[in-house]
Amino acid sequence: MIKDKYLRERGGTAKIINISCMKCGKLLLVYQKDGPGWLKRCYLNRILSPERYSRLEKNKSITKSSDFNNLVCDCGEVIGSPIQYKDSRLAFHLIRGKFKRSNNKAGEWK
Ligand SMILES: [Zn+2]
Repeated sequence: MIKDKYLRERGGTAKIINISCMKCGKLLLVYQKDGPGWLKRCYLNRILSPERYSRLEKNKSITKSSDFNNLVCDCGEVIGSPIQYKDSRLAFHLIRGKFKRSNNKAGEWK
């Protein structure tokens, strides 16, 4: 669990969730969702797995939304697109109907 000012601003509660492709069912991200409500975007600094996405946050050459690519499933479905949120955090804007979420209490990749 990532604990920082963003988590505190959202009330201090978070869930670990799986985000999967609606079309083929493949697991795309393990993600820490802060606070209640709809999942509209995935902040890079909340992606726990896999490493190819979680490491984007640590890549110093990625500073704006044009520096990284869409979130695309292996089946070819585009699930999300790069954005910079108003708090300046980089994120994937998720496309409604392209993904499904489920709880992942242990935070494991499976
Ligand atoms: Zn897919």
